[in-house]
Parts: sequence; structure tokens; C-alpha cells
Amino acid sequence: MHAPAVTPPNVHDAEPIPAAVRGEIDRLLQSGDLFRYTAPQDAPVSLLESEFAEMMGSKYALAVSSCSAALFLSLKALDLPRGARVLIPGFTFAAVPSSIVHADCVPVLCEVGENYRIDITDFEAKLDQVDAVIISHMRGHTSDMDAIMALCDARGLPVIEDAAHSLGTLWHGQKIGTIGRIGCFSFQSYKLVNAGEGGILITDDAELVARAVIMSGAYEHTWQKHKSRPGDNTSDLRDAFQRWQNKLPLYNLRLSNLSAAIIRAQLPEIPRRVRDGRANHDHVAARLNQSPWIEVPEALGPEERAPDSIQFNMVGLDEAEIRAFAEAAGTAGVKVQVFGLSQDNARAYWNWQFLPEMPELPRTREMLMRACDVRLPARLTRAKCDAMADILLDAVAQVAGPVRAYGT
Ligand SMILES: *Cc1c(COP(=O)(O)O)cnc(C)c1O
Repeated sequence: MHAPAVTPPNVHDAEPIPAAVRGEIDRLLQSGDLFRYTAPQDAPVSLLESEFAEMMGSKYALAVSSCSAALFLSLKALDLPRGARVLIPGFTFAAVPSSIVHADCVPVLCEVGENYRIDITDFEAKLDQVDAVIISHMRGHTSDMDAIMALCDARGLPVIEDAAHSLGTLWHGQKIGTIGRIGCFSFQSYKLVNAGEGGILITDDAELVARAVIMSGAYEHTWQKHKSRPGDNTSDLRDAFQRWQNKLPLYNLRLSNLSAAIIRAQLPEIPRRVRDGRANHDHVAARLNQSPWIEVPEALGPEERAPDSIQFNMVGLDEAEIRAFAEAAGTAGVKVQVFGLSQDNARAYWNWQFLPEMPELPRTREMLMRACDVRLPARLTRAKCDAMADILLDAVAQVAGPVRAYGT
């Protein structure tokens, strides 16, 4: 017997795009001015770049068609030779190793622990075999950036932050995405800011941004429409553009003005989404942690997250019981994805069969086999968060029964 049915929260509907953008969309539809380089200045894509750079406190921003495109351009901007090796965590989204393969480089995977963060011992052991590093802050979980930067700086290795899912996250109060040489973000619908598709990269390095801008598709002299932050010295950037003129391929990964307008309208919403997402996460985490069968890993000390989903580990249950739990929760209306158990999951590294070298990562595999993933949008009310926690706790009680008297 278990508790009466609870109405499950709807975690799939997106938040409406702020209505204030309709005038701007209408203006773009009327004028047909959808291409970023048509207007002589102040195209929505250019305005997004300056606003985003300002918001993050970085010198330059380049808006592109996706975070994957931003990662690809970052690797290209670093001028890595064909076959260069790029270290990434073994727990990330398939798009990340894909961007490395796209850039003619070889992904090297390191172990991730049961708290979803990079295993620094394995990371260090593999650093001497690589030419660059992409730190994926997977599901917004930040690995120990102090250790990572110290190890990479000591070897002169460039660090790209894949902050696709970490907009609004802080590390020692510093914005995630501003710690490495380049930070990349996503505006795909499942991220904090939703434009359907889109991405942006930020950096303080004029040379890197000039190369990325040209390769993103700034043909002829359209690069002149890319600016530094107001007040910054512009000659570094202009010199870099002139140096790379006609020397680089144009991959055409630009963003459209329509997407930029939709993104700009959501920038003022970010602090609220971060605050509410964090409160929802922490509330549900505290409730789930009351079960002896569920463990939500804690944030690292310097980390302040901006979650829109929750991950937790099943403790003391076998694979059949974990499957039964996910099924019971699903029947009650809360979809639980166990990264390593759901078929063809794009976050389980063994499904990345396109990798030139397939490693074995026992720790990461072990974590993926009992780590659960549940969407938890910032817009959910406290009552809806409680309904979700009730359903999850009820599902685990159905499977594991009342707390067993003996240890696990
Ligand atoms: C979504 C995501 C990506 C890919 O972003 P796109 O904009 O869809 O290319 C990369 N890394 C992480 C961690 C993500 O969550």
C-alpha cells in the first residue's frame, strides 16, 4: 500500500518568451533584416554580444549557432594541429566529444566521481598526454576549478569551459565561463535561456576572438562590425583581424537576428531563474536526502549552482531495483532517466562509438549506472516541487520497502 496519487508537475513546458520582445520581432519581420551583417551597426546579434560580454565581465563575445559550434570554433581558434589530443570529463553530453572530432582532434576522457565532478587524480595522470582541455560543467556541476587551473597553468595548457548548462553559476563568486581562456554557453531550449538553438563564446583574448569571428563566417570586412567593450583599446582587435584576413576558412556558424532578439529579451530574467532554480533544487534535494536509498551529492565549497534539473544517486539498490524505481516514478508521472541504464543515452560514454579511441572508465561507469536525472525547471512552485519529491520518495519506498533494519 502506498500514499494516494499526487498530481505530477509538468516539467516539459518552457517558460513563455517575455512578451516585450514582440515589437522587436515584428520590426525584424517587417524589415526582413534577419542577417547579422546587413545593418551598418547595432544589429540584434551585435547588441547581444556586447550585452553578454558586459554581463559576464569579459572583453569579447561571439554569438554563434550553438554551444557545439562555440566549442568547435574555440578549438580552431587555438590553432591546434590535426590529431591534437583534448581532455574532457567522461561524463558529458555527446556533442562535446563530437565538437572535438569535428575539429580534427582526438577526445581523451578522464574519470568522473560519484559526485559528477572530475576525478582530479585521473585528470592529472592524463594531462601530460594532451594539448588542450575542455571542462564540461555537466548538468551545471562544477569540478574543482582551483585544482584544474593550477595543473593546466603549470603545463601551459589552454582550458575551454563548456558552460552550456552553467549560466549563472559562481565559483568563489567568479562567473563560470570566465575562468578558462574561453567560455562557451548554449541557448538551446533545455538551457537557462531558450532560443530554440544558439550559443555564445566569451574570452579576453583578442587573437582568439578574431580567429573565431572570421571562422564563424565574418567574410570580407564584416569583422569591422565586431567591437571590444566600450572604453577598451580597440587596436588589439583590429590588428588581430588584419593579421587573419583571408587566412582562415569560413565555417558559417552565425546566429540570426531573430534568435538574438529572443535571447536578449531573456537576459533580465537570468537572476530570477538562477535564484528560483537554486531554491527548488535545494528544497527537493533536502527532501530526497531523507531517504536512505537516495543521495544528492553536495555542491563543492566554492560553488553556487544555477540548476534546472536534479541528479541523485541510488544507494544500496541493485540494478533491477533501480530500474523498478525509475519505472514506478514514471508511472506516477515523474520521468527519471538513469544515465547508464536508459537505452542509447547520449551522456553514457560507451554510446559514443564514433570516438577514435574508446577508453574504459570504471568509476564513471559505476556512477552512471546509479545516477538519476530529473528535470526541475525554475518556474515550478514549491507545491509542485513537493509533489515531485513525494512521487520520488513514494517510488523508492515501493521498491526498497520500509527502511531495512540492517545496513546496506
Ligand atoms: C547542451 C549542452 C551542450 C551542447 O549545446 P548545443 O547548444 O545544443 O550545441 C554541450 N555541453 C553541455 C554540458 C550541454 O548541456
